[in-house]
Amino acid sequence: MSTQPPRIYLSPPHLGGQERQFVEEAFQSNWIAPCGPNQEAFEAEMAAYVGAPGALALSSGTAAIHLALRLCGVEPGDTVFCPSLTFIGSATPIQFLGADPVFIDSDPATWNLSPQALERALKEAGQQGRVPKAVIAVNLYGQNADMDAIQKACDKYRVLVIEDAAESLGATYRGKASGTLGKFGIYSFNGNKIITTSGGGMLVSKDTAALDKARYWATQARDPVLHYEHSELGYNYRMSNVLAAIGRGQLKVLDERIAQRRAVFDRYRTALESFEGIEFMPEAGFGTSTRWLTVLTLDRGLSVKPHDIIAALDRENIEARPVWKPLHLQPLFKGCTYHTHADDCNFSENVFERGFCLPSGSNLAPADQDRIIDIVQSVLKRG
Ligand SMILES: *Cc1c(COP(=O)(O)O)cnc(C)c1O
Repeated sequence: MSTQPPRIYLSPPHLGGQERQFVEEAFQSNWIAPCGPNQEAFEAEMAAYVGAPGALALSSGTAAIHLALRLCGVEPGDTVFCPSLTFIGSATPIQFLGADPVFIDSDPATWNLSPQALERALKEAGQQGRVPKAVIAVNLYGQNADMDAIQKACDKYRVLVIEDAAESLGATYRGKASGTLGKFGIYSFNGNKIITTSGGGMLVSKDTAALDKARYWATQARDPVLHYEHSELGYNYRMSNVLAAIGRGQLKVLDERIAQRRAVFDRYRTALESFEGIEFMPEAGFGTSTRWLTVLTLDRGLSVKPHDIIAALDRENIEARPVWKPLHLQPLFKGCTYHTHADDCNFSENVFERGFCLPSGSNLAPADQDRIIDIVQSVLKRG
C-alpha cells in the first residue's frame, strides 16, 4: 500500500504558540462568551498595529463590509462600485442591503481597482444621476490598491471609500497600513488568511462614532436600557471572546508571517521566472505587498494552460487554484454593469484565463515547495 504525503493546501492556518495560552485564560476565567477581555484587547491591539483610532471585532470580514456599507448609508435601490476581480465576500453585502453592485475592472499594474475605469464609471453615473453611495476598493492577494488615485476620483463626487483589506493585513501604502486609507477598512481572519481566528473580521475607522453605531448594530441593536428594547434592525455579528484569544496570539506573529510569505514568493520567482511566457503578479512601487498568495500568469501563446498545472499538482495531492473568477461573470450577478479598464483591455477576464495561485502558506516546508516547483517546471518543459 502506498502512502501519499499529506495534502498541501493553498493557504492553511499557521499557529504561533501563544494562542493556546490566551485561549486557556479565556477558559479559566469562564469568558466563553460573545464578549470579554480578549475581545477588547484584540480590538485595541489591532487598532494599535494598523494605527487606527478604533476597531470592532466581528464574526467575519463579510459582516464588516455589510456594516461599513450600512454606515455609508447604502439603502435599497442604491448602487455601490466594486472591483470585479475579487472574492464574492467583497460584493454580497451590497445585495444584503438591497443595493446594486456595479463592477469595475482592475488595473494591470496593480491588479486592483482601475482608477481610470473608476473615473469613467463615476462620470457616467454622475450624468445619469446615479452616483454610488460607496466604492469598495479591494487589496488583492496582499497588495494595496492605488488609494490616492481612487480617493481623488471619489472625492470629486463625494463618494465614500471602503477598503477591503481582507487579504492585505500587514501590507503598506505610501508608509501607511493597508486598510486605514478609506473611510472604513475591513480585515478578515478566515482560516485561509495571513492570520486567522478560524473565522472572524475587523472593522476599522477614524470615525469612532461610526464604529460605536456599528457595535450597536452588531449586538442585535440593543438600546441601552435594562429590558430588551430595539428601535433599529441589528445583527448578531460580534467575534467571540475565545476566538479573539486566538487572534491575539496570531497578531504577535503577523510580521513573521509576512516575511515567510514573501520568502515563499521569492523562492518561486527564483525557480520559475526564467521560463518564457511566465509572469508574477507585479508589486506596485507605492508599498509592500504581503504576498498573501503567490500568483502567476501564463502567456496566451504557451500551449500550457493554468489548468494543466493545477491538475498536475492535484494528482500529487497539492492544492492550487485559478485567480478569482470575475464577479461580473458570476451567475449571481448576471445583468450587472461592468466597466473595463480600457476599450481594448478587459483585464479581469484576461487574468482569469491566464492566472493561477500556488501554495503560499507561511508554514510551507522548503522540501514541499521544492516538490511543487519540480512539478510546475516539468509541466512547463513538456508544454
Ligand atoms: C476573505 C475575503 C473576504 C471575506 O472575509 P470573510 O471573513 O471570509 O467573511 C472579503 N473580501 C476578500 C477580498 C476576501 O479575500
